Amino acid sequence: MPTETIAIPSGIPGTEYSLTVHRFGRREARPHVYIQAALHADEIPGMICAQVLRRELAALDAAGALQGQVTLVPVANPIGLAQQVLGQPVGRFSLSDGSNFNRDFPDLAALLVARVGDRLTKDEALNGRLVREVFAETLWQQARSSAPQHLKATLLQLALEADLVLDLHCDADAALHLYTQPRSLVAFTPLAALLGAKAILLADVSGGDPFDEALSRPWAELAKARPDRPLPAGCHAVTVELRGQADVCQDLAEADARAILGFLRHAEVLDGEKPDLPPLLCRPTRLEASEPIIAPAGGILTYRRQAGETVQAGEVLADIIDPITGALTPVATLSAGMFYARSAETFVTPGKRLGKVAGDSLRRSGRLLSP
Ligand SMILES: [Zn+2]
Repeated sequence: MPTETIAIPSGIPGTEYSLTVHRFGRREARPHVYIQAALHADEIPGMICAQVLRRELAALDAAGALQGQVTLVPVANPIGLAQQVLGQPVGRFSLSDGSNFNRDFPDLAALLVARVGDRLTKDEALNGRLVREVFAETLWQQARSSAPQHLKATLLQLALEADLVLDLHCDADAALHLYTQPRSLVAFTPLAALLGAKAILLADVSGGDPFDEALSRPWAELAKARPDRPLPAGCHAVTVELRGQADVCQDLAEADARAILGFLRHAEVLDGEKPDLPPLLCRPTRLEASEPIIAPAGGILTYRRQAGETVQAGEVLADIIDPITGALTPVATLSAGMFYARSAETFVTPGKRLGKVAGDSLRRSGRLLSP
């Protein structure tokens, strides 16, 4: 199991961060799967799952059971992991510039179409190699000055070689759910079934330039721009939300890792018997129809429904209690669907997101992901 350490410059003389990368299987073998954990550094369920994956993949690799290869980054955000404010971890946003570590990845789709579109040949494999080569070149030509920008470019560089990308996250308090592009749904249906996903949210463009889309969109846009040229699927990428921030325990980590290894068998990355796929627990829905439940008032927050429950249109999901007057403000959902995530806060201010319902009646636009 070769392990590599990559320096991430901090921009501050005398200091730097580093990224640890484990590799399993032969370097040129395909399919190539890239898995990273805790890009939002205070989301630990993926980090503990990656520990089990490392142990299991090392044993499988030693037994010669890898047909393809796996790249595993168990701590994708050393910058965020080092951040604290008054003893509290802050891993979602950069304290230096306020940016979200999983937003605003460079969107290179249009540049790649312009640079590669006319150079595509009649040979699919050759085209795949050409796109990856120009993707990497273009990535390193982008300006980057801050540590988060260096980190984002390095993670993309590692992942753009892969056919399948799993970005392991979690929500505040949530049922297990996935985000991916519609074109990648078939590729990740076995993963959703094995993990027992309660929601699968689909968008071609979510509006926030997260990590998964930065990898998959260039291939989708190229295929659209040059339908006359053969192109491999390139990269199917998925964001896996492993429940809530407090769902950190060895049993869940072992079960999630077992599901991911089962998926790798279905994807023919690993030898061995493919596990039976349980029925999907949800019907995939569009991200534009995911309803953010917003606090209309400030006060004490109590919920009537748990994350992972199916709710009806118009149903009250939570109450906000004014601690001065005792006035109660019920908060209802417009959508029927899966109440897949909710806040972990117990006191909220007006405008705060209290949760999300995966419905199918809304048609939102713009930035569809949480800030
Ligand atoms: Zn996250």
